[in-house]
Amino acid sequence: MMTGTEYKQSLSDGRATYFEGERVDDLPGHDLLGPAVQDCAEGYDWMLEHAVDGHSPLAGVPTSPEELRAMVDLVHQSGMMSHVTYTSIMTLATTAGRVKDEAPQYVELMHAFIDDAQRRDVRITQCITDAKGDRSRPPGHQEDPDSYVRVVGRQSDGVVIRGAKLHITGASLGHELMTIPTKAMKAGEEDYAIAAMVPVNAPGVRIINTTYAPRHADTRDFPVSARHNYPEGFVIFDDVFVPNERIFLNGEVSQASVFAHSLGLWERLGGLSSMADGADLLVGLAQLVAEANGLAGESHIKEKISEMIIHATVVRACLEACLVHAKAGPFGAVFPDELYTNAGKYTGAANYGLMVRHLHDIAGGAVVTAPSIADLENTDVGPLARKYMRGSTADGEYRTRLFHAIRDLTADTYGGWRAVTNIQAGGGLYAQRIVTRRHYDLARAKEMALEATGLAGGGHH
Ligand SMILES: Cc1cc2nc3c(=O)[nH]c(=O)nc-3n(C[C@H](O)[C@H](O)[C@H](O)COP(=O)(O)OP(=O)(O)OC[C@H]3O[C@@H](n4cnc5c(N)ncnc54)[C@H](O)[C@@H]3O)c2cc1C
Repeated sequence: MMTGTEYKQSLSDGRATYFEGERVDDLPGHDLLGPAVQDCAEGYDWMLEHAVDGHSPLAGVPTSPEELRAMVDLVHQSGMMSHVTYTSIMTLATTAGRVKDEAPQYVELMHAFIDDAQRRDVRITQCITDAKGDRSRPPGHQEDPDSYVRVVGRQSDGVVIRGAKLHITGASLGHELMTIPTKAMKAGEEDYAIAAMVPVNAPGVRIINTTYAPRHADTRDFPVSARHNYPEGFVIFDDVFVPNERIFLNGEVSQASVFAHSLGLWERLGGLSSMADGADLLVGLAQLVAEANGLAGESHIKEKISEMIIHATVVRACLEACLVHAKAGPFGAVFPDELYTNAGKYTGAANYGLMVRHLHDIAGGAVVTAPSIADLENTDVGPLARKYMRGSTADGEYRTRLFHAIRDLTADTYGGWRAVTNIQAGGGLYAQRIVTRRHYDLARAKEMALEATGLAGGGHH
């Protein structure tokens, strides 16, 4: 296993990564990206502390619903880069099981990669979302044929790929880019049916970073985003060679969507588990600020918080249900239930705006105008700011800090990022509607309706 220090050193591998127009050669030392590297390094040290027989506690794949539940909790605690790595590994394990009949030649390669990646203790990010150009047109009918990642050269020892994958969480901080098709492909789109594992430092890979990390000099006013933030990467494959042993799909169009569906399941499970905690956190903030404002007993405030509690409970119930109804697949691995995972992720995402609306409604305008910690420390205005920021029993600093957390989490750079991410990450709401519908027992619902209406077996249409 790697230590945090070794991880930081591993990033000096010649990778071409950029931020706001400049190439970044020293990621750990970068003002805005460095803290994310440090966070990932601490994740490595955390893993070492929790090692089991010298292996990462996340090594292997779960083979029972109990193991799956334990893994979900561990992944949640272990930080973003472990999370995306685990999701990538589970995606490959799931895909290997699903393509074993149609494309058996890749199964061994995927399993070999999983073993090797776990042995090297590397971090893997998921490159699925293509640039996509004109959304109404399939990959092969775009004005620019590179709008979806594709093979532009074939040789006996591998392929050359070109294209871009966008919004990739932590791309610059990992070691491997799991590059897979974003959707189903049709006959004629063989060059787009490509799945490959690409090292971040492979010649031709360039990554442009964006981040919601606070830019404020005093990060005490950003209690949430200053602690954990990760850049997204705009990953460009500018004619990148991939050797055969790192190719997991190469032209088999019928299998192209298996990767996206497998990733979607694990990605949404991760999303659902953080949404369950995230919803509880919003409830907690709403209650704390209501108490600090002296309004916790007010009926309309209680009603709003009750509605928030119901939402948080329903999201958690879906998380519980998808784990309880976990299913065993080929090779003994266990998977969360698709129906509950997708319905839960959808519910969490669709109602997030309502949760934030209630929180803002309860909290008041100081969400965006509370003075800074430095203002409270200023000898001229500090005591007065504390005096007027006081609420019921809460002192001025306590109440101010509550507002800082609410702003950071829901109404500032990071808050905006969360609002969009809730909807889009793991596929937009539409994607979860499709998968939920596919796994729901519609036939049974129709039978029940026919029974209730007295039309069952009557030959009516
Ligand atoms: C913070 C963040 C982190 C992310 N992390 C990752 C990551 O690590 N890896 C990764 O691969 N992706 C990641 N994503 C990308 C995410 O999966 C996509 O944003 C999402 O799938 C939507 O794709 P898009 O952004 O290109 O939007 P679009 O596809 O342009 O979608 C915009 C809207 O148009 C609709 N639409 C699109 N095409 C069609 C069509 N043909 N017909 C009808 N309606 C259509 C969609 O349903 C949606 O409502 C991340 C996104 C965010 C915001």
